Amino acid sequence: MEKTTVTVIRGDGIGPEVVDAAVRLVEATGAPVVWEEAAAGASMFRAGITSGVPQETIDSIARTRVALKGPLETPVGHGGKSANVTLRKLFETYANIRPVRELPGVPTPFSGRGIDLVVIRENVEDLYAGIEHMQTADVAQCLKLISRPGCERIARTAFEYARAEGRGTVTCATKANIMKLTEGMLKRVVEEVSADYPEIRARHLIVDDCAHQLVRRPEQFDVLVTTNMNGDILSDLASGLVGGLGFAPSANLGDDVAIFEAVHGSAPAIAGQGTANPTAMMLTAVLLLRHLGHADAATDIEQAIAATLEAGVTTPDVDGPGGVGTREYTDAVIARLGQRSATWESRPHRPLRLPAADTLRPADRSVYRSDGGVDVFIESRLAPAELGPILEGLVAGTPLALKMISNRGTQVWPAAAGAGTYCVDHFRCRFVLRDDAALLADGMVYDLLRRVGSRFRWMHVEKLAELDGTPAYSRAQGEN
Ligand code: ATP
Repeated sequence: MEKTTVTVIRGDGIGPEVVDAAVRLVEATGAPVVWEEAAAGASMFRAGITSGVPQETIDSIARTRVALKGPLETPVGHGGKSANVTLRKLFETYANIRPVRELPGVPTPFSGRGIDLVVIRENVEDLYAGIEHMQTADVAQCLKLISRPGCERIARTAFEYARAEGRGTVTCATKANIMKLTEGMLKRVVEEVSADYPEIRARHLIVDDCAHQLVRRPEQFDVLVTTNMNGDILSDLASGLVGGLGFAPSANLGDDVAIFEAVHGSAPAIAGQGTANPTAMMLTAVLLLRHLGHADAATDIEQAIAATLEAGVTTPDVDGPGGVGTREYTDAVIARLGQRSATWESRPHRPLRLPAADTLRPADRSVYRSDGGVDVFIESRLAPAELGPILEGLVAGTPLALKMISNRGTQVWPAAAGAGTYCVDHFRCRFVLRDDAALLADGMVYDLLRRVGSRFRWMHVEKLAELDGTPAYSRAQGEN
């Protein structure tokens, strides 16, 4: 059988220890895989490669289209970007698949409940687009970008995953009650897409309730689909229910490339001690082998892990007495290849079908779009009661009138009676056309900026669009 080349990145901290364990295990199954070593992470940052990912590594993954990756350290503070995120974004691996399943021999407060869920986390959009700006010395901003195609492909991936594993329910978790346009978009698209999967039950939970339910009754969950930030947090929470990050594998899937990595980070505190739990990386190798079509080798590994844990062989992060080192544990798993667990069955898994990019439905472009005003964000230390009249004066006699001013989302001018909003030096000033029938022209915006800019430093401008007469922007708290 022809061998498949897989790029392997050993990574930082405990990475080399756990990747070594997974590689040895895969080799012991006899699966037709050869490894192409590539570097990324801390050593590359030290060598002055600011992305942490050298071109040779990018070339390797572009060639092999599949990688097994250890955790990469993220430099803390300004400048350095996460090499993990860079890789996900470079190869547009938009779907992060994180299975969470109770294992035998790993005691937790939830043991015996039969937890068996999978978190499908959108992987490239949301706050992780990493678009941040200091607005003023006091105020930082991060843009949360959510796209319709991004929602549709993660929604379809969730339903396709449910089909591939014969799962009955897809739960979508969002904060759509607060962020109606961004988080609400995923909620709406999941509802639309669910019509194509009538045999699968679709439901929605507000993400905070989802966190609550995950701890109260985790066994109710099957497939859980969510936005990037929510998924990051919920999947770590979920891994904690079945024994922790030492047992949490993940796959990053895109149209062209798949990158497999454990959910955990480089765990520097235990690096180099030979005590890290390699199960997460071994289960990650299971996902890799399934992706490559080597289902038998994947099941052999899963069953050998279950049999090892059942026999009471665990690493020290597992509650209970003792615990063996990474190498001894790995040897114990390898020795059990071919054995079957007495209590734990592998799930049947058909190949996952990702949605083709050209089947994504674009938004309806026939919707009439018009702009009825503009938000200008300015820096000022004035009180809103002073700011309002000054801005009104600056735009007197122009087509745009000041409608309201808000501070961190709450209307502060005109002020609501009795309101006591603390104001930072960052105001949103909403200007709307005086004549409802008029159309906003860019020239009006330039003139507005010139006038406002004559008194205040402005940071950014947002047009207030309406789609078929419905405002396509959020109102401030307290705004009519
Ligand atoms: P990074 O900054 O790279 O994310 P971190 O230590 O902040 O590293 P994790 O690596 O995710 O974050 O680790 C969080 C905690 O979980 C640590 O206490 C770590 O010791 C533990 N942990 C994570 N992975 C493992 C593992 N494979 N085996 C044992 N303990 C682990």
